Amino acid sequence: MIKIALIAHDGKKPEMVSFVNSFKKHLKHAELYATGTTGSFIQKEGFEVNLLMSGPRGGDAQIAAMAATGEVDVIIFFRDPLDKHPHEPDVQMLLRICDVHNIPLATNPATGSLILKGLVGSKAFSEG
Ligand code: PGA
Repeated sequence: MIKIALIAHDGKKPEMVSFVNSFKKHLKHAELYATGTTGSFIQKEGFEVNLLMSGPRGGDAQIAAMAATGEVDVIIFFRDPLDKHPHEPDVQMLLRICDVHNIPLATNPATGSLILKGLVGSKAFSEG
């Protein structure tokens, strides 16, 4: 099962909710991981999600560690470029680790859609 990590900064959480709902049929066949608050929003939409720490408390760093050890296949991270973040160093680390390990990373819904559409029809979204 494909493993997808989902993160959204506060200003982008509504976009994340509509994004996951627009791919609901496919994401139901993925193993989802998310930072704490983002994940609780997604759970409310009826998804099963493995919750990590909240971003500012280390959740982005946990996802970066998963990317480094090959435990996640795709990262969808809707950043809010118009806001400040106390955990900006962790955000930058996550972006860097994705590039070091060649992990597909979407930082906005347009890119996220292209990545998920690219996976539709592949074995990635099939069960098992
Ligand atoms: P959150 O973390 O899902 O716990 O809000 C996201 C972030 O700010 O990185």
